[in-house]
Amino acid sequence: MTHALAPVEPRLSEPARTWLSRPLQSVSIDGTHRAGRSEDAVPVIDPGTGRTLTSYRSASTEDVAAAVSAARVAADDGRWSGLDPERREAVLFRLADLLHRDLNFVAELESVDTGKPLSDATIDVEEAISVLRYYAGWASKVEGVVIPAPRRLFAVATREPLGVCAAITPWNFPLPILMYKLAPAVALGNTFVAKPSELASLSAIYFSELCSEAGLPDGVVNVVCGAGAVGAALAGSAGIDKLAFTGSTATGRAVMRSAADCSTKVSLELGGKSPHVVFADADLDAAVDGVMAGIWTNAGQVCIAGSRLILEESIKESFLAELYHRTSKLTLGHGLDPASTLGPLISKAQQQKVADALSDAESAGAELHSIGSIPGEGFFAAPTVVTGVQPGRGIDRDEVFGPVLTVQSFDTEAEAIALANNTEYGLASGVWSSNVGVIHRVARKLRAGSVWANTYGIFHPTLPFGGVKDSGFGRELGSEAVQQYTELKTLVIDLNPGSSS
Ligand code: NDP
Repeated sequence: MTHALAPVEPRLSEPARTWLSRPLQSVSIDGTHRAGRSEDAVPVIDPGTGRTLTSYRSASTEDVAAAVSAARVAADDGRWSGLDPERREAVLFRLADLLHRDLNFVAELESVDTGKPLSDATIDVEEAISVLRYYAGWASKVEGVVIPAPRRLFAVATREPLGVCAAITPWNFPLPILMYKLAPAVALGNTFVAKPSELASLSAIYFSELCSEAGLPDGVVNVVCGAGAVGAALAGSAGIDKLAFTGSTATGRAVMRSAADCSTKVSLELGGKSPHVVFADADLDAAVDGVMAGIWTNAGQVCIAGSRLILEESIKESFLAELYHRTSKLTLGHGLDPASTLGPLISKAQQQKVADALSDAESAGAELHSIGSIPGEGFFAAPTVVTGVQPGRGIDRDEVFGPVLTVQSFDTEAEAIALANNTEYGLASGVWSSNVGVIHRVARKLRAGSVWANTYGIFHPTLPFGGVKDSGFGRELGSEAVQQYTELKTLVIDLNPGSSS
């Protein structure tokens, strides 16, 4: 089998071209970086051209078992959890510094792997670095508590690592989403097994090389690349203490079922159909930009995409006119073309999924407003606004994961809230109004893990993130992740053993 095909993409820089020309080390186990041992070849496809850049050997199920076992040994012998917290902190700061050193290179890999504009990929890598630094700092900040138990006892509860943590991550924000899970887990003394999406594995492969360079002990971070079967093997592994998943609701449920058989803790960050509510008294100029960023960013392939625009009726016409006008100024193109402001979808299958959703909506009586033209090659989809939808049905109900925005309107605050909550999902939501009372009232009633008011899609290492309803459970980021990746241990000492008082 050919491990690596000659890269054909002329836009690649020399360092990226050289790195991609070598056989990709799709597996990193116990500090050894090598090709996976499955017979299956995974192509690395540039979504901006549809062409195959290279390929790698998938991890086998034996590779998954070996990765979990290496993580188990490293967790149990304390080579990482037994270090002084400042030492763990120092190693992770060094790792963040290495990622920063290679920022442009990693961003280029991420751009060509996912199709997103290089500027967006750069923001992604910067976010990953900042999450890593945030949790590196936590390594030496986690404290226990003294518990006011009966006076004859001395009782403390300390936070201990869980042991082996694992992550199954998607292709839309490969490095940041991996870091939301890996950074707190490893900072707090756990060991880790990562399974990135087969559609975007390059940044995880390179990151595993940096882990060795930074001096992480062998076995602390292990990576197994491959398709869903590799993820399924990981989810069904009995050697894992906690599994964090980001992806579709259907796969999330399958992951939870497998984890249940092994009593593995899970956290799930699943899909969304997030409402973006705009009241007539909002700063409409800012709101148009916010709505655009909420749905066109990453070509709509964002779990928090503000894919349902809910406008106060009095501003509907003028707001949409401005939205069409500004959207027409976006440039669809290859991620490495500096002129591109909007990239392609991740795959041909995703392109087909978006086309099918639009054609079903049209058959159901909706009107499609496609804006701009798409390049001749690559998996592009034009930004499309869909009006005349039936609230909570069809394209207004299902996550499309593409640049598709449905529009509805309201006359009263109560109507706006009812429309916004008319979804099985509950990941995010946006509200625009200049009246702080309206913002508070609406935010209280929205059933979503995040509410952004007069802005949209703000992520920061300090801000907890996660969903309700079919969008999953558990929170990532912020101090909340410290709870998620540690377990309380209660120590009780009898100060008067043998006495009755
Ligand atoms: P999936 O949920 O299938 O994939 C997410 C991750 O799970 C990937 O790493 C995938 O591996 C892995 N995986 C797939 N099947 C299994 C399994 N049986 N057990 C364990 N892990 C598995 O999403 P898709 O990539 O197929 O996208 C489908 C839809 O999911 C999108 O159109 C979108 O609606 C939604 N989605 C939501 C995301 C979010 O951020 N919430 C992110 C991505 C998708 P691999 O890709 O290698 O097969």
